[in-house]
Amino acid sequence: MEKVELLAPAGDMEKLETALHFGADAVYFAGKNYGLRAMSSNFDEEEMKRAIERVHSANKKAYITINIYAHNKDFEGLEDYLKFLESIHVDAVLVSDIGVFNFIKEHSNLNIHISTQANSTNKYSVAAYEKMGASRVVLARELSLDEIKEIKSYNKDMELEAFVHGAMCISYSGRCLLSNYLTGRDANHGECVQACRWKYYISEESRRDQKLEIQEDDRGTYIMNSKDLCLIDEIDKIIEAGVSSLKIEGRMKSPYYVATVVNAYRRAIDLYYKLKAENKPYKVPKSIYNELFKASHRDYTKGFMFKDGKIRQNLESSSQEQTSKFVAIVKSVEKDGIWVEMRNRFMVGDTLEILSPTNAFQKKLTIDSMTDESGKSITDAKKVCQKVFIKTKIKNIEPLDILRK
Ligand code: SF4
Repeated sequence: MEKVELLAPAGDMEKLETALHFGADAVYFAGKNYGLRAMSSNFDEEEMKRAIERVHSANKKAYITINIYAHNKDFEGLEDYLKFLESIHVDAVLVSDIGVFNFIKEHSNLNIHISTQANSTNKYSVAAYEKMGASRVVLARELSLDEIKEIKSYNKDMELEAFVHGAMCISYSGRCLLSNYLTGRDANHGECVQACRWKYYISEESRRDQKLEIQEDDRGTYIMNSKDLCLIDEIDKIIEAGVSSLKIEGRMKSPYYVATVVNAYRRAIDLYYKLKAENKPYKVPKSIYNELFKASHRDYTKGFMFKDGKIRQNLESSSQEQTSKFVAIVKSVEKDGIWVEMRNRFMVGDTLEILSPTNAFQKKLTIDSMTDESGKSITDAKKVCQKVFIKTKIKNIEPLDILRK
């Protein structure tokens, strides 16, 4: 049985390697122009070429975002960019603007996926995109599971992709001027500052200096601060509704976030297929579910796809939380230990968790001794990116695994 695709964000080369290592089937990222998320580091042409080669060497797929809402001037240089993307064999481009769509069709043979920013909320728009020659539609986040099922049964041959994890936008599929209005940074050109997360007050027109009391508490209110989406315990229903690709949001998040979330969903998807083959119902174990609290997140919601009766905004705080700290990344493995690169301070005596796609996952590593690059014994790793050798007998640790506490 062909498995559903796990699609991960890759804001830069380190995140791309992390996503592949932890089991993503495909990654999405942008070049320096045309892709939303202008503040993620993104890839120049040379990096993009290397990235595509790397992804294909692992037999995975890479999709490139060209999902800005384009103004006339944005088309300058687009034809050359499309030729470049064809020459490096990208698997598809993600598009939201109909003019960009048409331009790509006229000037290239690239596969086109319709971005979630295009607001595909019904079976007829998906059918229209199929007629126009798109090969996949990323559904709007505002759909219920029943609506997705109906869209699939009306569009049997169309690939559907759905977000299952990550930040939500409080406006309709990113159609929002708040960031542009308050800061001049346009969300539809990838520059959103997430202004919806800020604290807001209401004032009456003729008394603008008087803030009306709408606070939930004395810190103000976060009426537009959406919780983060998390559907790991519902992936069975989403797959069975006919979705081909489960997408994780977060090109601007850290490699540690990518590792944690991709690892959890990889394990959950594999478990779903294993249980299905054994005719058993899917249930995500606590050990996997709890992983999603270890990377930065806001309170979780099931969004629009499943009604859980809870409000979808976090009214108390817009700050992110996480229960674990990223300590180091494994660089190489030797017979008697591992070379790691420090990210947050750790010391001899610390017990660290190993985040790994192998069965070293959730084993604990207690540091008895460690040395620096010159072979000198040290007790405290406190320089960012410092290389440290940790002695351990734990098997199956791999380069790109992560240590955390
Ligand atoms: S400011 Fe908030 S609602 Fe507006 S586009 Fe950005 S994330 Fe979405």
